[in-house]
Amino acid sequence: MFPEWTWIIGFWIGAAVGSFLNVVIYRLPRGLSIAKPVHSFCPNCKARLTGPELVPLLSWLFLGRKCRHCGKPVSSRYFIVELVNGCLWACVWWLHLSGPDTMGDPVRAVALMLFCSALVAAIFTDIAHYIIPDQINAFMLVVGLAANGIQIAQGAPGAWTGPLPSSVAGALTGVGALWGIALFGRLLFKKDAMGHGDIKMARGIGAVLFPMMALVSFGLAVMIGALVGGWVVYLRWTGKIKDPEVSEGEDDEPYEPESIGSLLWCGLGYVLCIDCLGLLWPKLYEWWFGENPYSTEEIEEDPQVELTMIPFGPSLAAGALAAVLFDGPLRQAVEGYLQTNFGGS
Ligand SMILES: [Zn+2]
Repeated sequence: MFPEWTWIIGFWIGAAVGSFLNVVIYRLPRGLSIAKPVHSFCPNCKARLTGPELVPLLSWLFLGRKCRHCGKPVSSRYFIVELVNGCLWACVWWLHLSGPDTMGDPVRAVALMLFCSALVAAIFTDIAHYIIPDQINAFMLVVGLAANGIQIAQGAPGAWTGPLPSSVAGALTGVGALWGIALFGRLLFKKDAMGHGDIKMARGIGAVLFPMMALVSFGLAVMIGALVGGWVVYLRWTGKIKDPEVSEGEDDEPYEPESIGSLLWCGLGYVLCIDCLGLLWPKLYEWWFGENPYSTEEIEEDPQVELTMIPFGPSLAAGALAAVLFDGPLRQAVEGYLQTNFGGS
């Protein structure tokens, strides 16, 4: 569709979008507006960034890695987010727009690029603050529904899964799977097995990837989670990483898992997308979930965590990224498996 070398354009657009993601990652968990102020500012001295300071990747590399106004070092996270997002956009560009095997579906390509960016933002906010902002989850859902809507309008094959549009079927699969795990864990082990942000993100992942690949991505997420989790617990246990602060959990109040009624009621809210609609109508959100969607009370700059507390969100997002990047081989493997074990002919 495009010449092969154009993936480099995808990379630079992705890096520029990564620059915007840094704004999202900084502002959303703090309850700050993404639109106001429009300009980027130094998180330390609030000085407005201009000209060369705004060039993705290069500004961090060549401007001394510190703020030109107050001299405070700029976190390498800014660079990493831009680089990772640039690489993801380059890969999707290659796979869907310019590579030798591409079918050339620009709608799917754009949807996947936006999806990857939302996942990157989710990973970094979850690692830093143990939350995945509702706006990010709602964004994924909207991207999935919109791209599938265009597919349906074009009469594309695979736009429908049974009687349901594929994105709707995928979203329901996502909520169902993670809500199911949460409920199962609560009933069996009397523990909160899954964060609500994870359930909402799974809905967005399902809407974009559709049921089959969404389930594949959840399987990958569990594997990634087990590997990363074991490694982080080991590092904390041996004292190799100190942050975030590890508490023994003794001075805290006794552990009180979420009530089953609340879990069911919230889950129903996620199926009905009350949390997404509630971003537009905060009153609806408050009525259903009992809290303001834009409240930042629960956000802690340095959350206290227990030794074994590891957010599942980053693994869930990493599983989805893997499903996007290795879509072809994974799809072949799953379809081959289904064919040999359940297929006729
Ligand atoms: Zn500064």
